[in-house]
Parts: sequence; structure tokens; C-alpha cells
Amino acid sequence: MTTTESGPGATTSGARPTIDEILNASDNRRDVRRLPELIVQAFRLVMAAAARQFIAAAVLQVVGGLALAGQLLVVRRVLQRFESAPGIPEIADLGPDLALFGVLLALVAMSGVAAGEQRRIMAELVAKYTTGRVLDISSRVDVIEFDRPAFYDRLERARVNASGRPLQIAEGVIGIARGGATVSALGVTLLFLEPLLILVLVVGVAPTVVLNRVASKILYRFAVAQTPRDRRRGYLFGIMSRKGEAHEVRSFGSATYLRGEHDELYDQRLLDLRIMARKRFWIGMCTALLASMVTVGTVLLLVMFVRGGRLSATDAAIALGAVILLAGQVRGLAGASGSLYEGALFLREFTDFLAVERSDAIERQIQPPIPPIADSFQTIELRDVGFTYPSRSEPSLSGIDLTLHRGEVIALVGENGSGKTTLTKLLAGLYRPSSGQLLWDGIDTSERPLTELRAHVTVIFQDFAKYFLSAQQNVGIGVPSAIGDLDSVSDAAMRAGADGFIRDLAAGYDSLLGPSFVGGSDLSIGQWQRVALARAYFREAPLLILDEPTAAIDPRGEFEIFQQVRTLSQGRTVVLVSHRFSSCRAADRIVVLDQGRIVEVGPHEDLMSADGLYAELFTLQAEGYRGGV
Ligand code: ADP
Repeated sequence: MTTTESGPGATTSGARPTIDEILNASDNRRDVRRLPELIVQAFRLVMAAAARQFIAAAVLQVVGGLALAGQLLVVRRVLQRFESAPGIPEIADLGPDLALFGVLLALVAMSGVAAGEQRRIMAELVAKYTTGRVLDISSRVDVIEFDRPAFYDRLERARVNASGRPLQIAEGVIGIARGGATVSALGVTLLFLEPLLILVLVVGVAPTVVLNRVASKILYRFAVAQTPRDRRRGYLFGIMSRKGEAHEVRSFGSATYLRGEHDELYDQRLLDLRIMARKRFWIGMCTALLASMVTVGTVLLLVMFVRGGRLSATDAAIALGAVILLAGQVRGLAGASGSLYEGALFLREFTDFLAVERSDAIERQIQPPIPPIADSFQTIELRDVGFTYPSRSEPSLSGIDLTLHRGEVIALVGENGSGKTTLTKLLAGLYRPSSGQLLWDGIDTSERPLTELRAHVTVIFQDFAKYFLSAQQNVGIGVPSAIGDLDSVSDAAMRAGADGFIRDLAAGYDSLLGPSFVGGSDLSIGQWQRVALARAYFREAPLLILDEPTAAIDPRGEFEIFQQVRTLSQGRTVVLVSHRFSSCRAADRIVVLDQGRIVEVGPHEDLMSADGLYAELFTLQAEGYRGGV
């Protein structure tokens, strides 16, 4: 890490810059002056992703552009023959010129077709490359960033822009190369015929380029402003179209209400879109009007020149052809530079997002020059630990002092919202403490990459992942490098009580789980939980955290799992979280949390005789089960 998020002793999330802060710092340079830099970045990006296709498309476009200008010169030569020859020239005399004309015509058409196909492949290659870069970051960024809406908005814009925008820039650049080549060739033709016409064109084109830029900026601002709303709309769309929420949406009859919210967000987008489109419409109108005026002005000028004897009729006709072609090319050029500018503005979101990779929010692959934490440990110590989520002002944990010993089974209990899950997230290295220290064998983890910590921990949460992959992959993904080791996979599944039902599936461990793909078989939630547990057992980390992973397993099943966890986890330290107090009584120590603080610690019997919060909650639950008060 280039900088640590705090000095030794205490970590504060305040000292650690968020991704948004990092990116906003680079936003200071958000102006047009960054455009050349961005175009260079876009070039690099496209070259990294699809160099061959890009070069081929660019060369083909330039060849096409030059061939178009060449056609004019050939036509001029043919017309001049008519002018200079005493009679009408023979077809045979015109043969070579006509053949050349045909070749040039074919070249324009063929280069267009070939460039189009190259572009198609280039588009996919660029999209694959950029999507991969976004995934590189989004899958490695600190979990805490997902608690920050600003990061989500940026991720969304980067994701959306990743596939199309670099290509838009590349095409803009290719378009400019083609337009530039054609315009230069036609320009030289005109210069040769009548230099004044060039001046008229340059004066006419400049405002068009400026107007195109303004239009692009308006579109960009619109898209940025819409992101939070679009994300929310996408979320509502998901609720109404996913299996997970399908039952509840139907039972509660909430579809109409949700649909209303969704449509309202869409209507607001449309309203803004209309305002934006109106502005762009008027800009487009002005651009078109200007272009037409320039062309008409040039035609008038040509007529005057012919009348004044400055130009022959042939040259005037060729100049007119060149001007009309030029007008089209200039429009194309303005369009290409507009799309380049538009693409660059959007690409900025993407390249800025990539800058995250260089920030502390991404775990370094490079290990710091301090000894790594041991594969196993004797103690894990939380010293005066506090934690506050970014979206909250109140801490979710405070003053936590707790030492876990090797081989110990610890249960975390407490009412909803007391901080159990937050504590497990800190132990699992998913979040860093906002204050205080987390020490592994006395080594302060605040100075270490979280990835190192995570490598020593296995955690299964209540909202564990259900991978719609094969049963073997579902278990084996706990240690991706050993995913093919079926013996170890089935051993872990056996320990979690999942082997039996997996073998009963149509293709055993090869069976695809999850109903979303053809051939997939769905499991009950309890069975999914056992698969997740097997995944946890498969990963031989010295600390195993099970945060209510058994909530959907029947009480007897959970009791058995918790009773056996000591043997099944083979001497690892285990942290259990369950709302069923009876399941936790076998733990070596029970830690009772209340409003983010530890209020009691001790074995079941001690806590019962202390007659504190634990005894109260335990008795309440036991009476509930017995049908008492
Ligand atoms: P428990 O696991 O005991 O039910 P949690 O650790 O999940 O409790 O939550 C502790 C407190 O932190 C609660 O007040 C909860 O609302 C809050 N909290 C949990 N997760 C988040 C989050 N991602 N963002 C903001 N607040 C959160």
C-alpha cells in the first residue's frame, strides 16, 4: 500500500479516503483541456483491446476517403477531354479513366464493407476488455464502498459506459481520420481550382464544430444526472422480475404499487429527456442551417466566378461537386468529432473509475514488508473496537474488547440490531474497525491488506451466496484451486449433511443447482444452507464464522450442526451466531451483545447464574418454545 489508512494504533474510516473523495479530487481537472489526454487514453485502450482491428479499420477508412476524392479528379480529367478535344472523344480514349473511376468506386464501397466488419469485431473486443476492467475493480473493492451510494452511481456509469463508449471514441477517431483524409484531398482539389472557396468553408465549419460539442456536453450532463434515478428504476425492475421476490410481490399484491413507482421514475426521466432533446434539437437546427448556408454561399460564389471568367465551366462543375462532397464530409467530420467528444466525456467516468485501482480502496497484491500473519494463530484480539457504517452517525459497535483463543467455540448472541453481524464482518476482514485495533497474535491488522486477513477466515452469512453452478462447484468454490478434488468436496459435504441429497440429484455432484438455467434443480433453503456449510468446511481456514447460516434448518438440525461443529471443524476456532439460544449453549463462551456493546461473556451456566440479559433472553425463548408466557 502506498499509504496506510491510519497510523499505528488506531484506524479511522475518516482518515481513509473514500473512492468518491479520490475521484472527486480528479474531477477538479474536469474540463475540455483533458480532452486530448482522454483521446490518448481511448486510443491506448482500443489498441490494448483490439489493435489489429483498429488499425485495419482506420486504414480502410482513409483509403476509402482518398478514393472518394480521387473520383472527382478522374471525372475532371474526363470532362476536360470533352472540352479540349475537337469532337466527342471515343469510348476507347476514355477507357483507362473510366476503368480507374470504376476501381475507385469499388474501393470506396469495398473499404466501407470491410471496415464495417472490422468495427463489429473491434466493438466486441473493446467491450470484453473494458467490462473485464470494471469487474476487476468491482469484485475487489472494499465492501464498505458498497455502503456508499456515490460509489454505486459511479460503478453503474462505468459499467454502462464500459462497453460502448471506448468504441464510440475509436470510431470518432477513425471517422476523423477518414473525414480528414477526404476533406484534405478535396481541399487540395479546391485549392488548386479556387483558394477562396477554402476560406469560405473553414469559416463555415468552425461554428458547426463548436455547436456539436455543446450538444455532446448537454447529453453527458443529462446522463450523469439520471444515474441515481436509473439505478433505482433498475432495482424496481429487478424486484418485479426476479424469482426471489416473486412470491411476496404476488402475495402482497404489491406489483401495481411498485409498477407505479417504476413508471413515475421513467416519466421523470422522459421529462428531462424532452428538455434535453429540445435543446439538442435547436442546436441541430442551427448546425444544419449553417451548413446549408455555407453550401449555398459557395454555390453563389462559384456562379460569380464563372460569370467573371475566373473559372471554366468544367472547373466550376468539379468545384461544385467537391463542395457538395465536402459539405457532406464536413458534416460527417463534425459528427465524428461530436461523437469523439461525447465518448470522451463518458469515457472519463470509466477511466476515473479505473483510477480506483491505484487507491487504497483496492487491496494491494503486493504484501507490505512486514512478516505475514501465521497460517494459524493463538489469539485474535479486539481492543476497544468501534465501527460506524458510512450511512450512519451512530456507531454500530463501540468499546469491544474480546480475545478469541485457538480451538475455542464462541457464540455471539443478542437481540436484532445488537451488532452481531457487524462484529463478524470485522473479524472476517470485510470491514476495518473505525477505531481500536484488531490483532492477530499481537500483529495489528490495520497495517495489513484485508485480503491477507480474509485468507485466514471462512465466513458464511445468513444471506450466503447460492451459486447457480454445479453442486461440486458450489462446495469447491470455497477453495477455487481445489475445486476439482471431488473426494475432498464430498467429504466436506458429508460433514455438512449435504452429501446425501446431492447424490440423490439426477447427476449427483455434476447437477446444476438453481432453477434459472435449463437442467438446474432447485434446493430447499435448508439444503442450500447445508451446501454453504459444506463450502465453509471445505476451506481450511483457522477461523470459521457461521453467522446464522442455519436459520432455515430445523431446530434439531441446527442443534446437531452446532453440537458437532467442534469436531467437524477439526480444531479450528469457531464463531457462531444464532438467534436460537439453545443451539449456542454448548459454546465454550457466549458473548452477549446489546446496542453495539458487549454486556456479558462466559459459559452458559455462568451466564444463567449471573441472571443478566442472557438469562432473561434464554428463559424467554425457552418459555416461548414450551408454550409459556
Ligand atoms: P445483528 O446482527 O445483531 O442483528 P447488525 O450487526 O446487523 O446486528 O446491525 C447492527 C446495527 O448496524 C443495526 O443498527 C443496523 O441497523 C446497523 N447496520 C447493519 N448493517 C448496516 C449497513 N450496511 N449500513 C448501515 N447500518 C447498518
